[in-house]
Amino acid sequence: MDTVKYLLPEDRMPSAWYNIVADLPAPPPTVLHPGTGQPIGPADLAPLFPMALIQQEVSQERTIEIPEEVQAIYRQWRPTPLYRARRLEQALDTPAKIYYKYEGVSPAGSHKPNTAVAQAYYNKQEGVKRLVTETGAGQWGSALAMAGACFGLEVLVYMVKVSYQQKPYRRALMETYGARVVASPSEETNAGRAILAERPDSTGSLGIAISEAVEIAAQSEESKYALGSVLNHVLLHQTVIGEEALAQLEMAGDYPDIIVGCTGGGSNFAGCAFPFIGAKLRGGRDVRVIAVEPMACPSLTKGKYAYDFGDTAHLTPLVKMHTLGSTFVPPGFHAGGLRYHGMAPLVSHLLDLELIEAIAFQQLETFAAGVQFARTEGIVPAPEANHAVVGAIREALRCKEAGVSRTILFNLCGHGHFDMQAYTDYQAGKLHDYEYSAEDVAMALAGLPSVGN
Ligand SMILES: *Cc1c(COP(=O)(O)O)cnc(C)c1O
Repeated sequence: MDTVKYLLPEDRMPSAWYNIVADLPAPPPTVLHPGTGQPIGPADLAPLFPMALIQQEVSQERTIEIPEEVQAIYRQWRPTPLYRARRLEQALDTPAKIYYKYEGVSPAGSHKPNTAVAQAYYNKQEGVKRLVTETGAGQWGSALAMAGACFGLEVLVYMVKVSYQQKPYRRALMETYGARVVASPSEETNAGRAILAERPDSTGSLGIAISEAVEIAAQSEESKYALGSVLNHVLLHQTVIGEEALAQLEMAGDYPDIIVGCTGGGSNFAGCAFPFIGAKLRGGRDVRVIAVEPMACPSLTKGKYAYDFGDTAHLTPLVKMHTLGSTFVPPGFHAGGLRYHGMAPLVSHLLDLELIEAIAFQQLETFAAGVQFARTEGIVPAPEANHAVVGAIREALRCKEAGVSRTILFNLCGHGHFDMQAYTDYQAGKLHDYEYSAEDVAMALAGLPSVGN
C-alpha cells in the first residue's frame, strides 16, 4: 500500500485564524475575578499578556488575520501534510478511511509552535523583552524557546520537576534555543517556596509551574506570561490545523464523519476540530467530534464543570471548565502534556452544548496503539498523540464490526522522538495503568472556589 499524502501549496496556507465564538449557539461563560466574582476586563489581564492577545481572547470576530511576519515563519513547515493511513487501515482490516494531519513536522516537533510564534510576535510588537512560562513534558517550553529565538526575546521556563529530571533532552533543546530552564517547584518564587515548605519532595505539577511563571511575569513591565494551551487565543492560533485539513480533504474529495483529537488543555484538538464544527454550525455537514484523554487525568469525563483557578497558588482568574481541582496532582504517567487539571473553557463549553463527545483511555492501550501506528505508518507518535491514535483505531474497528465505511480524521499532534524512554519502558513491561483515585479528586474538588459556583 502506498502512502497517500495531500500537500497544500504554500499560497493556499490560511491567512486568517478561525474564532468559533462567532458561530456558537450560546456564548461561553464569562471569566471572573476571584476576589469580587465580577467579570474581569482587559485591564485585569494587562500585567500578564500583551493587549493584542487580550483582544483575541475576548474577540467575537469570526476570523482574525494572521500577521505576515507570523505567516512567514509558519511557511517554514506549513502547510503540514495530511496523510491517508492506508497501511493502518489495511492492518485493521477496516472499511473506514483514516486520515491524519501531521503536526510533528514543525521544528519543535509538535503543534505548539503555531501559537508560540504568534504569541512571541505580539509580545515583541508591544515592547516585551522576556517571556515567562511553564512546561510539563517540555514541548511547550521548546516551542516558546524556539519562537523567542526567532524574535529576539528572552525565555524563562519553569519545568515540572519530574519532567526536568526525566527528560534531559527536552531541557537541552530549550537551552539550545537560548531559554533558561528552572525545575518547578523552585526556590525562586513565593509559590514554589510555599509548596516546598509543605512537601520538600514535590515532583511538581503544571498548576504549580503556572503559579511560578505568573508570579515572576507579573513582577516586571518588561516580562509577560505565555500559556501554551487552554486560553481562547491559543485555541484560535491552532485553527490553522483544521483550516488546512478542510482544504486538503477537499483535494482528497472527502469529508470527515468523525474527528478525533487528544486533549490536555484542549488546543490541538480544538485547532483541528473547530473549523469543521464551525462549518456544521453554519449549516454545513454534520460531524462527530471526539476528545480523547488519559484515564489518569480525566477532566472531561470525570471532572466537574465549574468555575476554578488555572493554577495551584490561585493567582489566575476563575474560568468555567471541566476540572479535577486546582490542587490535583496526577500520577506520573507518560503523556506529560495531558496532565493539566482543567480543560480549555471553550472545549468545556462545547462538551456542555453536546457539540463534542469525550472518552478516556488507559496508558497501556494508548502505547499499544502508538506502536501499531509506528509499525504501519512509520511515524512514532508522541505519547499524547497516542490518545488520538487509539481513539481513531477504536472508531475504525467499530466501522468494521458494523460493516460500514466512515471517514475518520485525527490530529497527530507531535512525534515521540524525545519520548523514547517511555517506549522503552512500555516494551519492557514497566508501564502501568492508572485509575484516577476518586478520593484524590474529591479532596481536590473540595477546594473549588465558592465564587461563581
Ligand atoms: C502540549 C501537547 C499536548 C497537549 O496540549 P493540548 O493543548 O491539549 O493540545 C498534546 N500533544 C502534544 C504533542 C503536545 O505537545
